Amino acid sequence: MQILVTGGAGFIGGHLAQQFAAESHDVVVLDNRDPFYDLDIKQHNIDAGREAARTSDGSYEFINGDVRDAELVTDLVADADYVYHQAAQAGVRPSVKNPRKYDEVNVDGTLNLLDACRDEGIERFVMASSSSVYGKPEYLPYDEQHPTTPVSPYGASKLAAERYACAYSEVYDLPAVALRYFTVYGPRMRPNMAISNFVSRCHNGEPPVIYGDGTQTRDFTYIEDIIDANMTLLHEDAADGMAVNIGSTDNIEIKTLATEIRDQIDPGLDLVYEERHDADAEHTHAATERAEELLGYDPDHTIREGVAKFIDWYRDNRDWYEPLVRQS
Ligand code: NAD
Repeated sequence: MQILVTGGAGFIGGHLAQQFAAESHDVVVLDNRDPFYDLDIKQHNIDAGREAARTSDGSYEFINGDVRDAELVTDLVADADYVYHQAAQAGVRPSVKNPRKYDEVNVDGTLNLLDACRDEGIERFVMASSSSVYGKPEYLPYDEQHPTTPVSPYGASKLAAERYACAYSEVYDLPAVALRYFTVYGPRMRPNMAISNFVSRCHNGEPPVIYGDGTQTRDFTYIEDIIDANMTLLHEDAADGMAVNIGSTDNIEIKTLATEIRDQIDPGLDLVYEERHDADAEHTHAATERAEELLGYDPDHTIREGVAKFIDWYRDNRDWYEPLVRQS
């Protein structure tokens, strides 16, 4: 089975490609190695996928290309059975500075893939969406019926992309699913995120920096649970045409998370508070009943278990990963 993973040099796409290759699928990664963060991390993601293919009956091919290139996308989709679309301009705060790029990559890029998938009649199109589509909460936890009123250009672009995917499913019978991820973390995670920053600062005797008063809440979702949900969609069609929340088992305040990480690494440190950014969501919390019902989703990791695993990985990979977090 051939699987096209867009954004496969990134954090989530890298783990997906690695898992598909380990399970002996033929993986083609399309990624333009966008310099949003250090390319060394992307190289580790690519290397992990290649290594997984080397030790299985699968294969791994990396294509340095852009989802905005409709011709290239059409060629690659023609050979694929499944498309897992993870490529995106990620990040809420930078989207405020450059909204048009988010539209071009996240919306037009997705449309290129959808057009090609419709024309080729692929088995399933699975795309990464985001809790950012919800915006200000009218109630929590968010279920999929909650109004979608994103408060950032990033959230708006992810909402437009997933609406197109669901519309293509409706009018062209394209099996398409949008997984709304809630803050994902784990090995090789993007360096510019709260958990990687807290862990790195604590390892260097520096207090974790919290933006706002730290009462913001998040569902931090461990990467292995995200990958499991994606794997299910190789054979499960119950969610076709839908958006589905993929979150964690517990919800946590940022200051509690920072405290726990600090206590595990260097209990003597203080916490530091800086000004909150308007585009950041105040609270995100996933209702996962739809995922449980349709995909049998059953996340294995509490935040404590996931963070402990990440800290272990961080210590084992500190030599190459830490400098990249510190410069981000
Ligand atoms: P990431 O930045 O690590 O990965 C995205 C990858 O897409 C990068 O390798 C980048 O080079 C590639 N890319 C960017 N523009 C491209 C283009 N024009 N053509 C081809 N490739 C391009 O981000 P991630 O954290 O792995 O996120 C993966 C997906 O999950 C994204 O769609 C993101 O919006 C979504 N998501 C992530 C989180 C999270 O917490 N990490 C939460 C919600 C949703």
